[in-house]
Amino acid sequence: MTRTELSTLGEFGLIERINQQFTPVLPQTIKGIGDDAAVIDTGSDEYTLVSTDMLIEGVHFDLSYAPLKHLGFKAVAVNVSDIAAMNGTPRQITVSIGLSNRFSVEAIDELYAGIQTACEAYKVDLVGGDTSASRSGLVLSVTAIGTVKKDKIAYRNGAQPNDVICVTGDLGAAYLGLQLLEREKREFLENPNMQPQLEDKAYLIGRQLKPEARTNIIYELNDADLVPTSMIDVSDGLASEILHLCKQSGTGAQIFEEHIPVADETFLTADEFKLSPLTSALNGGEDYELLFTIKQTDYEKIKNSPHISFIGFMTNDPSAVEIVTKGGGRFPVQAQGWQHLTR
Ligand code: ADP
Ligand code: MG
Repeated sequence: MTRTELSTLGEFGLIERINQQFTPVLPQTIKGIGDDAAVIDTGSDEYTLVSTDMLIEGVHFDLSYAPLKHLGFKAVAVNVSDIAAMNGTPRQITVSIGLSNRFSVEAIDELYAGIQTACEAYKVDLVGGDTSASRSGLVLSVTAIGTVKKDKIAYRNGAQPNDVICVTGDLGAAYLGLQLLEREKREFLENPNMQPQLEDKAYLIGRQLKPEARTNIIYELNDADLVPTSMIDVSDGLASEILHLCKQSGTGAQIFEEHIPVADETFLTADEFKLSPLTSALNGGEDYELLFTIKQTDYEKIKNSPHISFIGFMTNDPSAVEIVTKGGGRFPVQAQGWQHLTR
């Protein structure tokens, strides 16, 4: 038997491999692997949505700067975000934890206080989970269950050429928040008496430690009587997500740097780190904003929304997913977001 390294597949290659082995057979399974949530028909006018995401200490978070309360909140928010990305409403969650005796009861109380705050914020019930010992740090796995009216569901694969590409909020901030926290950690390890230099950085750090899921946008779109033609949440960076929408929809895309929303704080701090704000937005990840496409005829309905930017349009040619820079240059969009399995 030959041994194939996981790095030859990468995360997406591995998921694709699993996907090929498990074709859904039940008529109730409307969508299996491949979107932000699975879609199940339980026989009403709504679909049930199921999504799961795991956070692992040392991979997704570092407890030397991530407060447990924020971590609890984030674990729920990132799952709620995947339900929102189907144009759905979250309803219930289950929470599974792997932990060691390194944690006190009070520490776990903190974690659950964050989970509870998120349950209140997103109006979801915690209905179960699992508890286990872990020898490799804290593991948090959340499953979110949601619902969506059948005629309102938004998949990744519904975009058409000429659709307008929209994104909520701003991008790149969570990545710079992570750079700031990592820098403070390095400096603290070198000189424990140093005071943190994090004034004015609250926005970026908040975006990293305590991201919000964009459930408000789902209400806004619903009020505007608009169903996106495709949608995904931005967990791995704009580049990776636009490529998913294009690949699954069979379209190309043109996005314009000048229209990509980047907060002033992101610009300033990117400069400090000698990073390009554009790269942070394209490849940073963890913004948990929503990226979606709409028919041009729907543009009027949301053009004045303060929460939505219009960053480009879908095109006919699936081989050309391009970004037009402020200088007028044109480059293929490349995903560099998720590389854990190759490190
Ligand atoms: P997201 O970033 O939206 O959470 P992922 O990139 O994690 O999505 O996953 C993409 C798709 O692959 C989803 O449908 C997810 O359920 C599925 N998936 C991921 N890992 C596995 C796995 N180990 N087994 C089966 N399906 C998986
Ligand atoms: Mg997602």
